[in-house]
Amino acid sequence: MIELRLKVDPLPIDVPLIVRVNDAPSNANGQHDAFLIEVTGERREYDFNGFSLGVYAGVDECMDGDVLLLLPGQASAHRLIRAQSEHNTFLVTEQCDQLCVMCSQPPKKHHHDMFEHFALAALLAPIGATIGISGGEPLLHKHRLFEMLSHVTKARPDIRFHVLTNAQHLNAGDIETLSDLGWDRVLWGVPIYSATADVHDQIVGKEGAFRSLERGLATLFRAGASVELRTVVLQQNWDDLPALADFVSTRLSAVSFWAVMQLERIGYGRMNWTTSFKDTSTDFDPLARAIDIAAARGIQAWLYNFPACSVPPVYRRHAPSTISDWKRKYLNFCDSCSARGTCGGFFQWYDHRQGFAELGPL
Ligand code: SF4
Repeated sequence: MIELRLKVDPLPIDVPLIVRVNDAPSNANGQHDAFLIEVTGERREYDFNGFSLGVYAGVDECMDGDVLLLLPGQASAHRLIRAQSEHNTFLVTEQCDQLCVMCSQPPKKHHHDMFEHFALAALLAPIGATIGISGGEPLLHKHRLFEMLSHVTKARPDIRFHVLTNAQHLNAGDIETLSDLGWDRVLWGVPIYSATADVHDQIVGKEGAFRSLERGLATLFRAGASVELRTVVLQQNWDDLPALADFVSTRLSAVSFWAVMQLERIGYGRMNWTTSFKDTSTDFDPLARAIDIAAARGIQAWLYNFPACSVPPVYRRHAPSTISDWKRKYLNFCDSCSARGTCGGFFQWYDHRQGFAELGPL
């Protein structure tokens, strides 16, 4: 697995510090840039404005252009931006107002406001980067989030954001801000689990969530924002999928596309695995009908996090490789598979003993 935390020699700092590390001195032309002066085994020494910064990483690891967050008193740095990767995400808060049965990042009570540092890291990202924003629920800190998005999108016209949010904290007063951000600069990834309010509310552990979600989506649509709907396939919503496809394609047809996702076995997803995981390698029918309904009405449905061999051949074109590189793995039988180059494989924390029953090389 690719490490997103790197050991560092602690620096005598009393506030968080953002540093971009560069291999060549010629690329280190700003006050947040450091450049490489020596490599000894796994230790790389950088010159950071005349100070020594020691960072430890695998000898083959490319870090040129990466952006690190160093915290006072800590001997590790958060690798906020990996310049060579398309999978960079800022976890802006661990607070959340829901308790979803499949949550991969169970909420915490406390919040440390790091938006200023995330904004700086985004400004130092490579040309054309798309940066994910996740939580927790990012919109619990709506005004700080909007400030960051506005600041970065104005200063860096090439940067785009993909914000994962339950959308429930948006209201008509946000339309102007959302519109100003631009439909082509921010994609809002919003979960919906059923067209039946009670089922959705039970899955997210919050009464009234579905009604608030409808209001939030209406706000995004009125602002002309780009919206990706996200639905995790679960035992709890399996039979509802065709009705949800009908709802999406009639009531929410302004969405850019619909992502139907497999469950991630981590956090509450791991705790609730046996009661929530739906083995789509043995039964695909309701999902097939949902995709057909959406397609017939012009809604593009994608299958995220599905191993290609868990999907019937006719639907495989809907299943791109989507698991982020740093948390992706393949199993032994994948070695002889002709689809390995295009299949997204499995999450690192997938356990095949409790997983898909009917998989195998293509
Ligand atoms: S065998 Fe492995 S690589 Fe091939 S489709 Fe299945 S999961 Fe993907």
